[in-house]
Amino acid sequence: MTAVQSVERPTMECETQHFLMAQRQLDEIAQEMGLDPELHERLRYPKRSLIVTIPVRMDNGTVRSFTGYRVQHDVTLGPAKGGIRFHPEVNLGEVAALAMLMTWKCSLMGLPYGGAKGGIRCEPWNLSLGEQERLTRRYTSEIINLIGPDKDIPAPDMYTNEQTMAWIMDTYSINVGHTVPSVVTGKPVSIGGSFGRTEATGRGVAYCARRAVSHIGLKKESPTVVVQGFGNVGSITARLLHDTGYKIIAVSDVHSGLHNPKGIDIPRLQAYVSEMGKVKGFPHADEITNAELLGLECDVLVPAALGDQINDRTVNKLKCKIVVEGANGPTSPDADMKLHEGGILVVPDILANAGGVTVSYFEWVQGLMHLFWSEEEVNNRLEQIMGRACDQVFEMTVKTGLRPRMSALRIGVGRLAEAKRLLGLYP
Ligand code: NAD
Repeated sequence: MTAVQSVERPTMECETQHFLMAQRQLDEIAQEMGLDPELHERLRYPKRSLIVTIPVRMDNGTVRSFTGYRVQHDVTLGPAKGGIRFHPEVNLGEVAALAMLMTWKCSLMGLPYGGAKGGIRCEPWNLSLGEQERLTRRYTSEIINLIGPDKDIPAPDMYTNEQTMAWIMDTYSINVGHTVPSVVTGKPVSIGGSFGRTEATGRGVAYCARRAVSHIGLKKESPTVVVQGFGNVGSITARLLHDTGYKIIAVSDVHSGLHNPKGIDIPRLQAYVSEMGKVKGFPHADEITNAELLGLECDVLVPAALGDQINDRTVNKLKCKIVVEGANGPTSPDADMKLHEGGILVVPDILANAGGVTVSYFEWVQGLMHLFWSEEEVNNRLEQIMGRACDQVFEMTVKTGLRPRMSALRIGVGRLAEAKRLLGLYP
């Protein structure tokens, strides 16, 4: 069953390669589950897209204008939720595609949110802290009509962090005249952030890795792990798996990789990276390239850096049993199919990296209640929600023979479709 192709709808500005890939995923699952074609057509496009020009006074006194975006893909199940990234490659299509993914992710995890994403096209590494602050504050005021604790709640993403969230919260609060912590998540604990939020995505990835290992029946005391990317997600995943007895045999960052078949001492590497800023030069491992890292024989491969790392060019090199997607969109649709055919289990991004948005949800709830939980409580609740979602996806995979990505989408899209059916169409 295909979406209703309305003759009046021209090609939309968001229809970039990246967005078309997200649409293709939806089309595939819509066909598989026999989704109502009119509903399918509605879900193929974002609900709202805003493009803003952001003038910023630079340190040298000149004024430079940046382009920013905020896209809400869906708001059926609750306010929109999604990160804000600063990157030179940010464009409407990328933001719209990521907003759509957020819709499926929130629905899959059973969170009362729709999906959103935002971003500013800039080179954050070339901006001073003051320039970043002015850029963030002006962007916030340009999108202020869209956001709010009941409307749309931003969070950090690539090259934004808890400081960025603090600036957004402050700008929003000043404009409405009172403090509104729940307008953002991923903010510092001292201003209403949640314990466990910084580690939440890596914790969820590590949890999924362990569940996947037992799902395929791998009976090994120390499964071997390769992690691409040693930032927030990659380093926490590596640390937590290391602490539960897994052997992390390789890691990498943007500069280079490290390999030690006997296992890398992750706490020592973390200390080294916080001092040196990169993994290169760590004395207890051999240096390898990112391309070599992807082809290493291991039980679990965790791509935790960029999108499109496992693609037509790299997929045939993989020698792992399981891929757990820490990053968003690290595997192309064709590569995903190939991995499935080759018997490699892929735990898809909308499940594997959903720990971040799940603890963001906890942060939002705690902020609205003005009642804060201990780190232990946060982690226990996270494991409960991740465990439930893992079980549902693996069960669906066994029952239907679908790839795990399609099983996850089927659950996410199915829940939303049911909600839309019950709510009906206004007017
Ligand atoms: P980060 O900026 O903290 O870390 C990124 C890491 O990737 C760094 O170590 C960087 O050096 C490395 N890297 C960059 N380019 C690389 C390349 N070409 N090859 C190898 N390594 C490279 O970012 P993060 O927060 O850890 O996010 C990583 C991924 O996880 C992103 O795709 C992000 O969208 C996704 N994600 C993050 C969260 C979160 O809560 N942080 C939640 C969901 C998804």
